[in-house]
Amino acid sequence: MDLSKLNAPQREAVTTLEGPLLVLAGAGSGKTRVITHRIVHLLNERPLSVTARNILAVTFTNKAATEMKERLVKMAGPRAQGVLVCTFHAFGAEMLREDIHRLGWPKKFAIADMGDQLALIRRAMRERQVDDRAFDARKVLTLISKAKNSGQEPQPKPEGMGDDYDLITHMVFPSYQLALKAQGSVDFDDLLLLPARLLREHEDLKVKYTRRFRFLLVDEFQDTNLAQMNLLQLLAGEARNVCAVGDDDQAIYSWRGAEVKNILEFDRHFPGTKEVRLEQNYRSMQTVLDAANAVIAKNPERKAKRMWTDRHGGERIRVVTCPNEEEEARFVAREIQKHIAHGIPADEIAVLYRTNGQSRPVEESLREKNIGYEVVGGSEFFDRREVKDVIAYFKVIANPKDEVSLLRIVNVPARGIGDVTMERLHAHARADNVSLWEAMERGEQYEDLPSGAAGKVGEFLRMIERYRNLFEGGNLAHVTRNLLEEIGFKEATRATAVSLTTADKKLKSVDQVLNSLEAFEKREGPKASLLTYLNRLSLDTRQEEEDEVPGGNRRVTLMTVHSSKGLEYRLVFFIGMEEDLMPHKGMQGEPQNLEEERRLCYVGITRAKELLYLTRAAIRVKRGKEVPCTPSRFLEDLPAEAVELIDMDAPRTGAPTEQEKNFFANLKERFKPKGAGGGAGPPRGESGV
Ligand code: ATP
Ligand code: MG
Repeated sequence: MDLSKLNAPQREAVTTLEGPLLVLAGAGSGKTRVITHRIVHLLNERPLSVTARNILAVTFTNKAATEMKERLVKMAGPRAQGVLVCTFHAFGAEMLREDIHRLGWPKKFAIADMGDQLALIRRAMRERQVDDRAFDARKVLTLISKAKNSGQEPQPKPEGMGDDYDLITHMVFPSYQLALKAQGSVDFDDLLLLPARLLREHEDLKVKYTRRFRFLLVDEFQDTNLAQMNLLQLLAGEARNVCAVGDDDQAIYSWRGAEVKNILEFDRHFPGTKEVRLEQNYRSMQTVLDAANAVIAKNPERKAKRMWTDRHGGERIRVVTCPNEEEEARFVAREIQKHIAHGIPADEIAVLYRTNGQSRPVEESLREKNIGYEVVGGSEFFDRREVKDVIAYFKVIANPKDEVSLLRIVNVPARGIGDVTMERLHAHARADNVSLWEAMERGEQYEDLPSGAAGKVGEFLRMIERYRNLFEGGNLAHVTRNLLEEIGFKEATRATAVSLTTADKKLKSVDQVLNSLEAFEKREGPKASLLTYLNRLSLDTRQEEEDEVPGGNRRVTLMTVHSSKGLEYRLVFFIGMEEDLMPHKGMQGEPQNLEEERRLCYVGITRAKELLYLTRAAIRVKRGKEVPCTPSRFLEDLPAEAVELIDMDAPRTGAPTEQEKNFFANLKERFKPKGAGGGAGPPRGESGV
């Protein structure tokens, strides 16, 4: 590998192979590049003592992991195949797959998804006489998850104890944990906690894992939580060959329990850490970097970083006001079309937004113009009823103890096993202290079931068991097709749909499940099983499953700013730059929330290499009413000389707000808007873009 393609501090980080190392540096300074180069360097420099299997690289998303792995193979050849590149959660799942039985779980454990978790929490609430309609199970789940992520196990210490929710959480937590284990499941947080427990409590496993993973590298370290830090420390063992890279200015997941302290106080966890700073930004043109620096500079209490680029000049940032949300979307689609015509590949263009709901109008406008796009994350695909049903079949087949899924499908499509039957069986299960499935197996013994019910239940059980055997033989998609055929799933879906088009849509989603199964089998080969598929699914859907829309393989990317972390595009549209969206409504009160919104804005801006559009709507329809929107406070921080104002200047209803008037008076005074009065300036393909 050619080390001359690195600057001096990068080279220093890449060639420091032993001991704890921290690279704390701004966006686009080559932190991720340091990780990939360091891995290749390790393989090159220590061909005799280090093999790919000794290296673990942790990324923030599965998508980032796939990309990093591809890059490694490109750089180092097939020998890089053995490097494990994955998220902390996927790594935890991998460890549990091998050793979870040591903690009393079945080897074939399942990963509970949000729906499963909520069902278990509601049940636990009812058991503890808490009204699950008066109190929000989601909120309880969030609190439990927070407690788990901050390393508390198994019981959270309720902080105030005054709050009803603290109390409920305290009561529900143990029952929830027990119920999870009873059905052979773990939740997402357990994927971090249980591996740590394995390493803490089983010396032989500690030896096994620390011997295998001798070099650990973690990207996006600013968004790790305490559980991840704990796991990392355990894995690092005595050798402590840990390389962490990150940027405290890009910490945007504190709402999910991430601790920016992990990076700021890295040295406390790993004494003697060598710290490397990178100051040259290689990603963005000067204008983009100036904007990013100006926005983030307003955050108090940050480790100030100097960032410079030799990519001088560049197009000015376009701050665009559109009359409303629809016009904003049309503007974006029009500009994208122009830029594509000027030679920018569609996959070098991204549209970023604060909330998932903002993608819809953009999707429509792109479709109108026949521009291919993909939406990363946030699609509700796995929330669709028919998809959930099919998945529930998989879950029951893989794990008969999964009561939530069993109840979901036992009479879907209708097969004459009614509520009364299931309620009685449930009562028997409780009384006999067995699982619902086992009670169903004993159906014949119970005299209080409706007539004929035991027979139908028996038939259902035999069918599920038959498919359990069939799935063991592989060929997942094929077996699934037979299963759906046998139970008449498609006919039933068609029959219960309100219209032909909805029926069509529903059946299409079922086909998509089959497609995803097929793709999974192709990818995994003989390793593919129903269980590994389900686990993969629960790892993926958390943040980033993709809803694909045809358009060739070059497509515009649509995603939330949160999921854009670490990525880069020549052209970025950051839409909805308004108060209440960016910064988000609930985030304006507390100063630390506002600071996180500012960091989010910084992350969005720094995705752009060449050209950045910041767009906003003057009016948005909220709950059926037109509401005037105030420009985002972050726009006011942009350096005037780096900005070009574009006012789409269309008629609008409602008077501009005071802040809005001031904002534009101020900006217009400072420089003359170009291209105002009727449209955006033409794309200047020759210069910057
Ligand atoms: P982020 O904080 O957004 O994750 P990062 O610090 O990880 O950013 P990278 O994605 O590694 O930054 O690098 C940003 C861009 O700069 C990439 O396109 C990368 O290839 C390029 N780059 C980094 N270092 C160099 C270098 N020494 N020479 C040329 N290009 C570089
Ligand atoms: Mg990066």
